Amino acid sequence: MEKLIKQNGFNYAFNPKACESCKGNCCIGESGYIWVSTQNIMDIANHLKIDIDKFITEYLTKIGYRYSLKEKIFEGGFRCVFFDIEKRQCSIYDLRPLQCRTFPFWDHFKNNISEVEAECPGICKL
Ligand code: SF4
Ligand code: SF4
Repeated sequence: MEKLIKQNGFNYAFNPKACESCKGNCCIGESGYIWVSTQNIMDIANHLKIDIDKFITEYLTKIGYRYSLKEKIFEGGFRCVFFDIEKRQCSIYDLRPLQCRTFPFWDHFKNNISEVEAECPGICKL
């Protein structure tokens, strides 16, 4: 029996084992914002060994007063700028933003289980 992750308030669980055979569905597909915090910006720029200004120009889009990771055209849709297309996984996994860490347990999906089910093969209805 796989170890499932559950979270209060959600009527589904998540099987992290599914990530091994998934093609990175949560990092590709439709366009969307991937919000980064100031700490994320500093940490990722430091990891890439480039200064903050260069990092912002090359990897971020400013939306209002916040920043989102850029996207690239990919397979008829989009991919996050940090999605490794060879390995089909996140290239900054240990530094990925909170939004990525908390997927698939987003409030938005609480009443939209079919939406998250269609995207993520690790979803198990409870
Ligand atoms: S969509 Fe789900 S199974 Fe696929 S990589 Fe993302 S979290 Fe893992
Ligand atoms: S930062 Fe990593 S986990 Fe988050 S969307 Fe980009 S590639 Fe996926």
